[in-house]
Amino acid sequence: MPQQPSPPTLPFELVQEIIQSLNGEDDRPTLLSFLRVSKACWETAAHVLYRTILLTKDRTERLFLTGGEDMAVVTESPESRLVHLSPRTRRALSFIERVELKDIEPEHIYLLWAATTPDTPLFPNARQVCLRHFRGRWPNACQYPQKDVPQDVDIFGHIDLCVEMELAFRYIEYLPVQKYKRVSIHNVWSPRFSMTPYPDEWEELRWFEFYAQTFASKVVQRFDEAEAFLDDIDPDGKLPPLTYVVPTDEWEDLTLGSLSKERGWVPSPTSRIQFTFDSADWRAPPCVVCGKKFDWPQDTVVSYKGAPHTFRAG
Ligand SMILES: [Zn+2]
Repeated sequence: MPQQPSPPTLPFELVQEIIQSLNGEDDRPTLLSFLRVSKACWETAAHVLYRTILLTKDRTERLFLTGGEDMAVVTESPESRLVHLSPRTRRALSFIERVELKDIEPEHIYLLWAATTPDTPLFPNARQVCLRHFRGRWPNACQYPQKDVPQDVDIFGHIDLCVEMELAFRYIEYLPVQKYKRVSIHNVWSPRFSMTPYPDEWEELRWFEFYAQTFASKVVQRFDEAEAFLDDIDPDGKLPPLTYVVPTDEWEDLTLGSLSKERGWVPSPTSRIQFTFDSADWRAPPCVVCGKKFDWPQDTVVSYKGAPHTFRAG
């Protein structure tokens, strides 16, 4: 009986290149099987598989909670139910470059604190973080007592942050970060600076405005809030400016006119509050994290210099 030829063996460098060319989403099943082949394959496949992570309530529970119970039925303190994270899981967490947190609740944040090793960020290599809250409870409606973030806990290292919706803005203070680089804020109606200990360090802070006309009518109030906020966190004026990105220039004259009349303020390149009124050629660069230029959720017609203009969101 002829001997069965042994299957050809590919050099590991080639296998590595094949794995690296796979897509974390589309090729998920293939990558999952590579995890089981060998230690070296695990390392390469895990790097691709865990480059980005979306943490919803369910996923956070599955990842960090013993038995993956629904947090709603866990009556004792959630952090006492933290799953033991193996060195391999911690290594996988260190591969994550982009984290999206969507609609998580305060209990899940406590779990993240509990999972964090003192003085080492839980996601040490995350560079982009997106925090979104379309539905959920207000932190003060949380069934657990409010807690202060432990001193030695940092969830993230040096990141670009994108915040979407009012609740997400409130949650920032519970997700401690070593250093903010670029921060973008979307769909936050009332900033409530006074209630939110906002990042005391950043390289760029941009506030994407939702309704340019409403913004024009409230700009003096918004300006005063921003001034008070900056006085509070940056009295020496060392930080880069806070920039409001307004999606049309239709109300530019009205907006700046109010500020000039009410506050005697005129635009200047050295001012710590800046306004960008975009026009039909959409000059403002998109948010570095989510890629959005404006917050309108679907194709929207705006009046630009008196003529209707349509742009596609996203
Ligand atoms: Zn964004």
